[in-house]
Amino acid sequence: MFIYIKGIEDDRLERPLQLIANLFFEEAELAFSKPDRDSDAVIELAMAAEGAIQVEAKLTAGNGEQHRAAYEKELQEGLTEKERFRAIRNAVSHAFLTVLQDWTGIMQKWGILTGVRPTKLLHNKLREGVDRGQAHAELEEEYMITPEKIRLMQQIVDRQLAVMPDLYDLQREVSIYIGIPFCPTKCAYCTFPAYAINGRQGSVNSFLGGLHYEMRKIGEWLKDNGIKITTLYYGGGTPTSISAEEMDMLYEEMYTSFPDVENIREITVEAGRPDTITPEKLDVLNKWNIDRISINPQSYIQETLKAIGRHHTVEETVDKYHLAREAGMNNINMDLIIGLPGEGTEEFGHTLKETEKLMPESLTVHTLSFKRASEMTRNKEKYKVADRGEVEKMMNMAEEWTGSHGYVPYYLYRQKNILGNLENVGYSMPGQESLYNIIIMEEQQTIIGLGCGASSKFIHPETGKITHFANPKDPKSYNDGFEDYTDQKISILNELFSKSSSST
Ligand code: SF4
Repeated sequence: MFIYIKGIEDDRLERPLQLIANLFFEEAELAFSKPDRDSDAVIELAMAAEGAIQVEAKLTAGNGEQHRAAYEKELQEGLTEKERFRAIRNAVSHAFLTVLQDWTGIMQKWGILTGVRPTKLLHNKLREGVDRGQAHAELEEEYMITPEKIRLMQQIVDRQLAVMPDLYDLQREVSIYIGIPFCPTKCAYCTFPAYAINGRQGSVNSFLGGLHYEMRKIGEWLKDNGIKITTLYYGGGTPTSISAEEMDMLYEEMYTSFPDVENIREITVEAGRPDTITPEKLDVLNKWNIDRISINPQSYIQETLKAIGRHHTVEETVDKYHLAREAGMNNINMDLIIGLPGEGTEEFGHTLKETEKLMPESLTVHTLSFKRASEMTRNKEKYKVADRGEVEKMMNMAEEWTGSHGYVPYYLYRQKNILGNLENVGYSMPGQESLYNIIIMEEQQTIIGLGCGASSKFIHPETGKITHFANPKDPKSYNDGFEDYTDQKISILNELFSKSSSST
């Protein structure tokens, strides 16, 4: 789809419009100056911004069909340059989205929102003291979010505040993410730092050496500064792809180096790939009081698992789930993916039926996303996936099924290039929600990332300003520079916590 857009003088508007066009078309190409070939449509945008921002959009399709939209919103006085630009961007996005909706007949339930964390918008409004009704009206008016999605957002925000009533007051604690970049094999849709572990023992050893170092140093800093840990999450990769002995030493390091581990509210270990779970590793998890694990079926259709490169069987998922239960694990999450190659409502219905036999405490329902770096995206023609309508039906099935089986939604996030422009939703039995997932989605607290591919997100305890820091994704670069990455993180932490604590 090739669209020529006239009337955009501020090039900062180009990216937001591109992101909106991507919601409608798989391959959307926009030209902002006269192209030298015919386009499928021309959209003319006219705007004025004095006192109020007024935008008019006219779409003329190749066949002469026309659609028009107009949007007007008062510009408050005293806006900063950034706020003013945001108001203009939203107004232009409104008119642009409206003509595209009219032309294609596709309704975007999230309106002009293309970001990852819609619920954060609602949290921010409520935190500022805006009352609920007003906040909902603003979300509908400012972003064109449908009432259905606003209800979902409110339900999630309520749930989050019920399980973490102090969610807005956790800035003086931190959470920790530990990335272990190994998996038994690499899945076709994966863009995580995940290296097939076989034959890499040398690299595993050096990596773990670096990780222990980071844990010791960061632990020391936390103790010296009296900073508590709220939640801790081992992800990756698959953290259970290392040996039981290596896991044991790692958790011992956690208890030795980190402050007050007994009082961390939640420790999760992703055991995503069932083929990594053994009785010995479950014993280790129990020994160190790991609260929560994830065993991820993704689908209960064997051909699908094969097609996406997960070299384990459906039976293995079920067996390992029972093994974990017998070993005393009583908070198990399972991830499912909607829209995997070759799957439609029938296959997803089967997956839900199988899930019913297990009833894990929480269930995360992802919608397949074509991330740029994955093998699936590189070879898109090889993987046949469901269309928008069918993906939406499956999403509705998940919503109904979880609702009628006692689960409640408690976090959600969206991704770019997600099938059907829908969302990923975490459901859980009430009281079994993952606190770490809430913290990472709502960006209310600093998360320190240790290990390979671990991103740190430092949130200033007073201003809320976010600073990102990423450890390298590949073990080799990590091994070469872990001391330096640790020092850099400590200096950011000093900056944030020491200064702000002396000013309070
Ligand atoms: S198990 Fe997860 S991290 Fe590992 S390759 Fe598959 S999707 Fe990636």
